[in-house]
Amino acid sequence: SDFLKIQGLEARIDADGTPKEILKGIDLEIPKGEIHAIMGPNGSGKSTLSYVLSGREDYEVTSGSATFKGEDLLALEPEERAALGMFLAFQSPVELPGVNNANFLRTAVNAVRRARGEDELDAVAFLKAVRAETKRLSMSDEMLKRAVNVGFSGGEKKRNEVLQMRLLQPSFAILDETDSGLDIDALRIVADGVNSLRGPDFSALVITHHQRLLDYIVPDRVHVMAKGKIIYSGGPEVAKTLEKQGYTQFLEAAA
Ligand code: ADP
Ligand code: MG
Ligand code: MG
Repeated sequence: SDFLKIQGLEARIDADGTPKEILKGIDLEIPKGEIHAIMGPNGSGKSTLSYVLSGREDYEVTSGSATFKGEDLLALEPEERAALGMFLAFQSPVELPGVNNANFLRTAVNAVRRARGEDELDAVAFLKAVRAETKRLSMSDEMLKRAVNVGFSGGEKKRNEVLQMRLLQPSFAILDETDSGLDIDALRIVADGVNSLRGPDFSALVITHHQRLLDYIVPDRVHVMAKGKIIYSGGPEVAKTLEKQGYTQFLEAAA
């Protein structure tokens, strides 16, 4: 597949002056239209992988490659990745005091539209689009008038993130849902958002250690990650095995 292809990816971070290797040779292919999940114990490097794919600066790729839609992903700026259709949902959404949520969303949407060569949405067109989505998500319009994520509950932050994703209509979304404290409602909001985009032109990488999330978003493939490597890949049944038996057997088989 030439949709997303990661080969031998190694990356490190500068930890107070000492380079720390985190990704130790990741191979992963996600075809167009497929939803893949990555599960793994805390500290495996799951979030690091999502940051490297999204272009966060703190990480140094030391080996390997990643191509997205035939482009050298690692050579692209984060905005160029977004323009190609990538969307990254952050584990802990940033709070932006003083920044109006509607304006923030419109700026983000229009930046991507511009980069894709599409017309920008004016205030009226944007409001129309956003109202259709807030209704769908049972979100109050009042949340659009508030500062971005400031004082939002966990569920409201998730709705806001899904709202942004639905407005941007990505062809590839990376969702890192490893934060604890995601209740069932929040899991459902995320799952409904992903499932609503499901189709031949939408792929996703769902990173989670909530097996339950994968009851709602049934993935095509599940990859188990440990110590910077993918140690096992299988179908959706892998999530069930993990729920029942934990990581031990996968870790032992890989050792
Ligand atoms: P996961 O998401 O699977 O829990 P992470 O990618 O967050 O794993 O972290 C992988 C490893 O890299 C952990 O051992 C973590 O402590 C380390 N790490 C991540 N970010 C930093 C950082 N900024 N400085 C030092 N070590 C880090
Ligand atoms: Mg972690
Ligand atoms: Mg993480």
